[in-house]
Amino acid sequence: MAGMPCRIEDTAPAARRPSAPLPAALAWIDDELDALRDAGLERPARVREGRQAGEVCLDGRTLVNFGSNDYLGLAGDVRLTKAASKGACAEGFGAGASPLVSGHSRAHDALERAIAGLLDVEAALVFPSGYAANTATIAALAGPDDFIASDACNHASIIDGCRLARARVGVYPHRDLAALDTLLGGARDARRRLIVSDTLFSMDGTIAPLGGLCELARRHDAIVLVDEAHATGVFGDRGSGLVEETGTADGVHVRVGTLSKALGAAGGFVAGNAAFIHWLRHKARAWMFSTAHPPAVAAAATRAIALVAQEPMRRLELRERAADFAGRLRHSGLDVGGAEAQIVPVVMGSPRAAVALSEKLLGEELFVPAIRPPSVPSHKSLVRVSLSWLHERHDLTRLAEALATHAR
Ligand SMILES: *Cc1c(COP(=O)(O)O)cnc(C)c1O
Repeated sequence: MAGMPCRIEDTAPAARRPSAPLPAALAWIDDELDALRDAGLERPARVREGRQAGEVCLDGRTLVNFGSNDYLGLAGDVRLTKAASKGACAEGFGAGASPLVSGHSRAHDALERAIAGLLDVEAALVFPSGYAANTATIAALAGPDDFIASDACNHASIIDGCRLARARVGVYPHRDLAALDTLLGGARDARRRLIVSDTLFSMDGTIAPLGGLCELARRHDAIVLVDEAHATGVFGDRGSGLVEETGTADGVHVRVGTLSKALGAAGGFVAGNAAFIHWLRHKARAWMFSTAHPPAVAAAATRAIALVAQEPMRRLELRERAADFAGRLRHSGLDVGGAEAQIVPVVMGSPRAAVALSEKLLGEELFVPAIRPPSVPSHKSLVRVSLSWLHERHDLTRLAEALATHAR
């Protein structure tokens, strides 16, 4: 129950050591921490206890949880736990090596087939995380002779992939196809041109113009890579994401996704042509040089993919409620930007305003995180509501009312 204390004694973390002065070589860190504090950018290290569901126990308080990407409510689902236990019993816990050497287990093989099946593509490759999938794949596809066009609101893992590629990078304003057209027109001399975009943007809940991206790619002879991290499991008839939802599978060459959000497990994936995936096994450094994630995790993710197929009502109800909720906030005069999915921002402007709102909501047992730099530009700081299928209708009503009171 929201508001009830929830500390579980025997799993409580040990008290932290009081902090000693920093050695002289690291003394500058104190100044940086002071600067972060002064700018309203310091982050608490919260401790979560127990299974997460529509509610979460954070630092000993039970809160309605609007701060998780567990969109379908699978992260705490006992069926995933059971699949993981069974997987661990069959194959042990650790993967032991990178997939390239001996870490690629039966469970990983089954998971890659399940992902390819869900997305209706030839093949998939599983990475330790979505972050690793993006950085490794972008750096494999592009190098110093190439040009990458990247949406200004792309996820950090895409930005880091571009840096790792050491390619020439052109950042186009959020979803601005005309600007993208111009950028690509100026990159004819590049060996390859790569367009990279989130499909559902994680900070503002907007959707990329996928048809437009594919059309420009055709005209400019470019590769299209999209990141479905927040759309996998939520959009499309089969639940495979926005590429399916928008019918753009023919124009999108590479799909990246994560098993850690709506699918409630962990790990990232890349999916596409079999030859492309086979090539990636020779070029994607985070796959080649990082230990495979545990086979038990792969077993849980495979179970989650089966549940996406068996329980479509989770994504359908989630999307219906998200549309209602965003409509309600707009009606109260709040700035929810262009939100069109289960991520609903309330744009506050300064980091301090966003933190103040988040704290007021916390006072009503509503956990809605403040999003600040470096996740968004400072003047676009916001609180981000992430909806889950597990939320009760009255939780949404309570949050909408609290926002209408405190956010203006
Ligand atoms: C979360 C996220 C990732 C990273 O996925 P992980 O599995 O959490 O590492 C990649 N891209 C986007 C858009 C994300 O939101």
